[in-house]
Amino acid sequence: MAQSMYIDGKWVQSASGEQFDVVNPATFDVIDRVPSGNQEDVSNAVAAAHRAFSAWSKTTALDRSNLLYRAYEILLERANEIAPTLTLEQGKPLNEAAGEIKFAAEYLRWYAEEARRIYGDTIPAAAPHKRIIVIRQPVGVVAAITPWNFPAQMVTRKIAPALAAGCTVVLKPSEYTPLTAIALFSVFEEAGFPPGVVNLVFTNPGDVFGEAILADARVRKITFTGSTRVGKYLMKGAADQVKRVSMELGGNAPFVVFDDADLDAAVEACVASKFRNAGQTCVCANRVYVHENVIEEFTEKLKRRVERMKVGSGLEEGVDIGPVIHAGALKRIQAQVDDAVEHGARVVLGGGPVQPAGLKGAFFAPTILTKVSDSMRVCQEETFGPVAPLIPFASEEQVVELANRVDYGLAAYVFTRDLERALRLGESLEYGIVGLNDPLPAVVQAPFGGWKSSGVGAEGGYYGMEAFLEYKYLSIGLSR
Ligand code: NAD
Repeated sequence: MAQSMYIDGKWVQSASGEQFDVVNPATFDVIDRVPSGNQEDVSNAVAAAHRAFSAWSKTTALDRSNLLYRAYEILLERANEIAPTLTLEQGKPLNEAAGEIKFAAEYLRWYAEEARRIYGDTIPAAAPHKRIIVIRQPVGVVAAITPWNFPAQMVTRKIAPALAAGCTVVLKPSEYTPLTAIALFSVFEEAGFPPGVVNLVFTNPGDVFGEAILADARVRKITFTGSTRVGKYLMKGAADQVKRVSMELGGNAPFVVFDDADLDAAVEACVASKFRNAGQTCVCANRVYVHENVIEEFTEKLKRRVERMKVGSGLEEGVDIGPVIHAGALKRIQAQVDDAVEHGARVVLGGGPVQPAGLKGAFFAPTILTKVSDSMRVCQEETFGPVAPLIPFASEEQVVELANRVDYGLAAYVFTRDLERALRLGESLEYGIVGLNDPLPAVVQAPFGGWKSSGVGAEGGYYGMEAFLEYKYLSIGLSR
């Protein structure tokens, strides 16, 4: 029996009866099958969310908070039980998977708290017989679309604030990672959200969902995390009905190491930023700029550190780097490395696919490239793989110019012991997130969002509520 979608409080199959496979990227084995939804399924889910909206949007903040808090408790309790499912379909090491699910739970807790702080304003009027009140109200039915690289965290980072605000939701997770979403929805079901408040549909490919929600006037808001290409398509489509959009898109993070940095700490930070999740995070270091005075020493230290990393199935104890998501990703990463080598880069470590014993999946060796220049594809494009291209720089002005030269603006990193320089770069880098001597800045309470082609809006913290609320101004005329 295949898995199910969750629509209007019921676990259901697709209208067409069709299904698609879920594949383990470490072995290419089919691990499960899920319903393949079509326009009718999406419409049913939107209809359920639309019906549920009127009652849900009028619940008290305390009721919504309590349900979110209950979901937080259940998810935290089940984190270790769900982690192997996440690893099986996505590939990341089990400890990273368990960590991600606990982090996903934190969004439920944060927005359980934030639900109770949807404040408005009263504003002094200019006329004596007038009163001005501003209230915040939920935007309506939300369509949420998430990627495969964080199959748990990306879901709660959207759904928790949407529900806290009083919106109802239809989620379409990535076709590569539907099973973690199913586990999350069984948590929502157990927590006791009323039917229709949260709905889960799968479509393969994602376009089916995109077309359906863009055409459906009942959907008032699209919140999307994924590639810039799909984000642009959704933004254009949303313009027709002036739907609200939030876009968390691709990145191309510069990781800058000055010659006064603590080099050992910078190497550890580079490993954490670059090789976590096999280099498949939107904020991971994509271009590593190292001051020319220390690039040789940095390269040597990084090589010695990365050589010790174990590649294999995420389910295996001690594995640091799992597979990338599919064979297509392997090809894309290889093409970038080949392009770099053709144009003069040198492979210090790795450089191609590897096959850990007994596994036939999508593994790419952790790779370090030197003699890299900015015009190479590996610098121009988001790599989304375990490849660290090292580029020398000579001055602060030069590296700021290089760092800002791309269209993306999600995350940037700076390693230096000079506080003034750190602040100068923090202010001049055109990025939504800057890690100053910090490779892992994502936390539940701060705004996570990109500038330029990396997105619109931010998730996390009280900022994340904005996306799901409208202002309403009540102008009150008094008789005297
Ligand atoms: P993707 O854009 O291919 O897919 C993302 C989601 O969109 C999936 O659920 C997919 O099915 C769906 N989709 C695809 N075409 C669609 C369409 N026409 N209409 C509606 N939905 C559609 O991205 P991906 O490969 O799953 O994820 C990797 C990308 O996500 C990278 O670029 C990464 O940087 C980005 N990302 C960004 C953030 C962030 O917070 N900014 C976080 C994680 C990932």
